[in-house]
Amino acid sequence: MTIPGQLSPSPRLLLGPGPSDAHPRVLSAMTTPLLGHLDPQFLEIMTETQSMLREVYQTKNQLTFPVSATGTAGMETCLVNLIEPGDRAVVCTAGYFGNRMVEIAGRCGAQVTVKEAPWGQTFDLQQLREALQSVRPKVLAVVHAETSTGALQDISQAGKLCHEFGALLVTDCVTSLGCTPVKLDEWEVDAAFSCSQKGLSCPPGMSPVSFSPRAVDAVKARRTKVQSWYLDVTSIMSYWGGDRTYHHTAPISMVYALREGLRVVLEEGLEARFARHVRNHLALKAGLEALGLKYTAGADCQLPQLNAVRIPDGVDDVACRKRLLTEFGIEIGGGLGDFKGKAWRIGLMGQNSNPNCVFQVLAALEQILVGAGVKVSAGAGVAAAEKAYA
Ligand SMILES: *Cc1c(COP(=O)(O)O)cnc(C)c1O
Repeated sequence: MTIPGQLSPSPRLLLGPGPSDAHPRVLSAMTTPLLGHLDPQFLEIMTETQSMLREVYQTKNQLTFPVSATGTAGMETCLVNLIEPGDRAVVCTAGYFGNRMVEIAGRCGAQVTVKEAPWGQTFDLQQLREALQSVRPKVLAVVHAETSTGALQDISQAGKLCHEFGALLVTDCVTSLGCTPVKLDEWEVDAAFSCSQKGLSCPPGMSPVSFSPRAVDAVKARRTKVQSWYLDVTSIMSYWGGDRTYHHTAPISMVYALREGLRVVLEEGLEARFARHVRNHLALKAGLEALGLKYTAGADCQLPQLNAVRIPDGVDDVACRKRLLTEFGIEIGGGLGDFKGKAWRIGLMGQNSNPNCVFQVLAALEQILVGAGVKVSAGAGVAAAEKAYA
């Protein structure tokens, strides 16, 4: 065989639903020489990473650590540990990732009741109450930031409500952590999972999870062993918890990356970071609307970090995104599931939530749309964004 040439990917601006661009400090932390996974210095790095994760998740939960895999593994970790075969679970779904939880909960052996809302909408407390009342589940799972529709589900009261009915609240915070407030303790969330490659501006490969004391008790009270050996938190915790006994080899460089990503988040400050995401979202939104693009999520629940808009009639999704990528070096996301071919998803996550990204994508999109035969007045998007910033 001929050996492939040295890696030299073209420059890209990753403005899709993730991965988003890694922070330069994160990339440079990843070139730090390896330590052994049981080296006392590495154990200290693990402890620091966990402490910072608790800050970012706004929790005191002892059982907080990054699973050594992507966001979906965090989803499996939460569900497989809390669900035993035969348990009842309610999964709320209003998009693609809710459906993934339905699938995983089913594979864990749960009797799953699916509570559906139209894509782009969210659930109100009354709907959750009805589901809890009629099903009396052990677990209620809901997506906090539904990346397929760009909708933010208010979960601030959901934990309290679940606890009224003796249920545990599991939340998918994959796209929310590091971009919009996630307050596990105040909101009484029992198990949450996220990822490294969206709001935390790291490469994909780690999935921060957190279990409340109530969730830990539920795991301890299981009658059966957790079906997954690798994701069983009772044994992972002998490594990420006090004993530090070998469970699996931590992906050392990814832990370095996550540690640096979390340092960046905390140096900025959570409130400043959330405000920055809102500011840039409002400018992008003004620009997109000036280009005639309409959001798929309701006006009261739009995610600042993920802007999903309908593709105008007659515009070729794949051709436009290809032009955006090859001519402008910008990646945005297409639609998933019900929205395949119908939506574009523009992420302004973590590091990438900044005016430079806003102006770049608006200027490029305008040209793409004009090329596709859509009537837009020249410079409308950029001008609207400028006005929003002013
Ligand atoms: C990205 C995403 C996931 C899946 O995470 P992976 O890192 O791709 O495994 C799950 N839920 C939501 C809401 C997501 O946006």
